[in-house]
Amino acid sequence: MQVPSPRFDHFVRDFTRLVDESSGDETQVLSKGRQLLAELIGRDDWLPDRYAQPDPQYYQQYLLHADPDDRFSVVSFVWGPGQKTPIHNHTVWALIGMLRGGERAESFEVGLPGQPMQSLGTQDLNPGTVESLSPRVGDTHRVSNKFEDRVSISVHVYGGNIGRISRHVFDPKTSMRKPFVSGYSNEAETSL
Ligand code: FE
Repeated sequence: MQVPSPRFDHFVRDFTRLVDESSGDETQVLSKGRQLLAELIGRDDWLPDRYAQPDPQYYQQYLLHADPDDRFSVVSFVWGPGQKTPIHNHTVWALIGMLRGGERAESFEVGLPGQPMQSLGTQDLNPGTVESLSPRVGDTHRVSNKFEDRVSISVHVYGGNIGRISRHVFDPKTSMRKPFVSGYSNEAETSL
């Protein structure tokens, strides 16, 4: 991965220091990390075009930085018009900062086996805003591009090497879960 931007370099340096100093305290990482991510996405002039490319069929997840010790990863999430994820979880904390366009996230509670999933509400993210997710309070959601006619991009920070983590997608009607590993759209660039 190559993001030739002093702004991004600063972000990675500061986030690495935060993770070093927080010794696994998720509350601290999320509250301070939210500010760092807000600064990063406060300007939309640093993301290289090749990590901003949509695909006509699938939303894209480009790895921008992987912590060498797998403590966190940074991903650009690129939505083509009208694209959406299945309902999924993460199993690690996440920070989501909206860079361009907009996205809509619907949170879910997993039902009993065979029972439908319960919607917990929908939230819109607009450029400049940051949201957080934690498996400690529920991290199951479905996310979509808010727009049917344009590309949207958010920058995500996850509490692990997210493209390598085995997590789950869910069937909304039955709450059945299936394991999945997301990988990265720029897999060929990653040596992890
Ligand atoms: Fe997600």
